[in-house]
Amino acid sequence: MSWRQISPEVRTRFAPSPTGYLHVGGARTALYNYLYAKKNGGKFILRIEDTDEARSTEDSLKMVISDLLWLNLLWDEGPDAQTLTDVGPHAPYRQSRRQEIYQQVADQLLKEGKAYYCFLTDEELEAQRNAALAAGRPPHVVSPYADWTLEKALEKKAAGGKGVVRFKTKGLAKDYVLNDLVRNDVRFPSDMVGDFVLLRSDGMPVYNFCCVVDDHLMKITHVLRAEEHLPNTLRQMMIYEAMNWPLPEFGHISLVLDEDRQKLSKRKGAVACNQFKEEGYLADALKNFIALLGWSHPEGKEIISPEEMVQAFSLDRLNPAGAVFDRVKLKWMNAMHLRALPDAELWKKTEPFLTNAGLDFSGMDEAWKHKSLQAFKTAMEILGDAVPLYSLLDDKRFGVSPEASETLGWEPTKLVLSTWRELINAHPRDEFTEEEFVKIQDEVKTKANVKGKNLFMPIRVAVIGKPHGTELKTLVPLMKKASLLKRADQVLAALA
Ligand code: GLU
Repeated sequence: MSWRQISPEVRTRFAPSPTGYLHVGGARTALYNYLYAKKNGGKFILRIEDTDEARSTEDSLKMVISDLLWLNLLWDEGPDAQTLTDVGPHAPYRQSRRQEIYQQVADQLLKEGKAYYCFLTDEELEAQRNAALAAGRPPHVVSPYADWTLEKALEKKAAGGKGVVRFKTKGLAKDYVLNDLVRNDVRFPSDMVGDFVLLRSDGMPVYNFCCVVDDHLMKITHVLRAEEHLPNTLRQMMIYEAMNWPLPEFGHISLVLDEDRQKLSKRKGAVACNQFKEEGYLADALKNFIALLGWSHPEGKEIISPEEMVQAFSLDRLNPAGAVFDRVKLKWMNAMHLRALPDAELWKKTEPFLTNAGLDFSGMDEAWKHKSLQAFKTAMEILGDAVPLYSLLDDKRFGVSPEASETLGWEPTKLVLSTWRELINAHPRDEFTEEEFVKIQDEVKTKANVKGKNLFMPIRVAVIGKPHGTELKTLVPLMKKASLLKRADQVLAALA
């Protein structure tokens, strides 16, 4: 059977349950589905799995949408990013709005005897489960209602009986083989599952059921999702078979693991895309990084642009082994993307981090912005790294650090500082080029007759308040004469 029976074009989907910000694992699932659809000129669908009413909120949906927008993983069908109204030929795309559809499919399965109303109470189910476990049997439900006629069940329901709709597994094949796109043949014994619920007693459908109905009706050709869904896939295959619907292609991608090879968790640092965004990771860098968690470029390339990713993506390079989320590598990758950005764009992305930290450089001209980025960007791995660097340029944050006390105690320091101040003051312009700074430093050397650390460290204290740190020849050309004088005076005052 080929997926073309479902649709001539590739149709993939991302189907989040909106219960909070998008996790990097979810982002990877979205990315692979997006890439596969784009690579094949197909469609990428966003479907919202919000049947868990207690946990799914409109705010969470907005968060997921804003994360997808940030990553530039735009969907062809699904809720509109601004208005949230469903757009596309298979609307609605929110499961909470598709209940009637699920009911109709459930009715068909009930009519054909492939599903049944089950009136077992929670207590009865619990007792069954305990007895099965005690006897060493799998804890599958054995329902006396499985063989009831639909008429009889409907009568009981009409009389107020509360029942779930259960899928009937009796009489199914001995085992199911899934030809998985990532893991090849996956064999499931059919007795792995018992009669499972399709609709709860309040009529709410369960995930496995909605998922099949929607994937079928939305003509999804390829389902790429996390490995942890494999057990669900068996139930889903059973429903496809019962409905006589063609099976889409499935690819179960490996888990994302922490450095200690445990499932990625919040304890080790950020896991939500939004948090990476706030720390100053670039969307393209995060995308690059998560693309390589379970997939590799055919030429082994590590730094990949979004366009290259679409070009190079293929399912046969998905790796079934768990992928380690290496935060050091992510940072390195971010630095690579960041340094490759044109300065104007990098400034646009950096400035909000500075503004947030109370640093205002809006009055500076383009040339200054360019010069400052040239000076600082090699020291930046994430956008947030700009804050301590640019803070050096803010007079309000200047102070003489305790680290400077040793330097201030040296015998020649006073002369170095006063000479420095004098030469700065005599400088004819408001700004300094790198050459002018070096020249002034040389003059201090001659006039005060000092060299080495006795020369450099006091001057550094006079500029940044401490004897170690950013190179002055990159920093001084970003500063004004008045600012340098004010700082020198402050240090001289500290000395006195
Ligand atoms: N709503 C499910 C999840 O978030 C989707 C699983 C699937 O892709 O079928 O894990």
